[in-house]
Amino acid sequence: MRCPGCDRDLKGQKTTLEQPYQYVESGLDNVFLVGVTLYACQCGEELVEIPKVEQLDDVIAKVLIQKIDPLTGAEVRFLRKYAELPAKDFAKILGIGPEHLSRVENKKVQRTGATYVLGAAADKLTRVIAHKASQDESIKEILLTLAEASKKKASRKTARLFFEKRPRSSQWKIAA
Ligand SMILES: [Zn+2]
Repeated sequence: MRCPGCDRDLKGQKTTLEQPYQYVESGLDNVFLVGVTLYACQCGEELVEIPKVEQLDDVIAKVLIQKIDPLTGAEVRFLRKYAELPAKDFAKILGIGPEHLSRVENKKVQRTGATYVLGAAADKLTRVIAHKASQDESIKEILLTLAEASKKKASRKTARLFFEKRPRSSQWKIAA
């Protein structure tokens, strides 16, 4: 592999849990990839090989659909794109204005200091719509688990998520 910036010959290195690749292409700021090949050049250029992106996005979507805390704006945007819905159509389905959806997705802050959110019903509807693309677990079970868990849980901190591509496995999975 040649560096597109300076034409140096680059050696790839597999990312690890200690030094993962931050998957910024997802639009999420807390998703990290383990087991992908990273080519880092002295000139600052960085290239990464992410195999089977569609299956990776399936696994990420599955985690987001089942997360207990309300979806963040970036997560709403990820699930909307995963469901292949333009913002205009998605806002229509949720029964909100496209401006409001845009404020939610871009984490705009209100005059009160709070960020714009979807609200509980639209949050769940987003999950149901995204789930249609992955159909491997009953949405009824997921929503009931969320309802039970959110009663007990106090923390609202967004945890870092790690997804791993093992060398001999053809599938992406959640890193333990
Ligand atoms: Zn370079």
